[in-house]
Amino acid sequence: MRELMVIDSLVSDEEALSWQERSLCAQTDPEAFFPEKGGSTREAKKVCIGCEVRSECLEYALANDERFGIWGGLSERERRKLKKRAV
Ligand code: SF4
Repeated sequence: MRELMVIDSLVSDEEALSWQERSLCAQTDPEAFFPEKGGSTREAKKVCIGCEVRSECLEYALANDERFGIWGGLSERERRKLKKRAV
């Protein structure tokens, strides 16, 4: 039974992450998504606009409290604002 539960959780982890295989940023320069403080986020956001898993990506970042980088087309500050509004 315990083994089954472990397999279940592995499968759901895989499902949860499978959107990343379809992410557009995987085909581009990953550094654009983690700019230095004060650096431009424009290029990364442009890529996100055309990404088919944008909503999955944003949900993942919000659920996991990702602090750094562009996720789902939003910067860290924009995600913080979004979270505040949701409360
Ligand atoms: S939405 Fe942007 S950061 Fe998220 S997977 Fe797509 S391209 Fe990458």
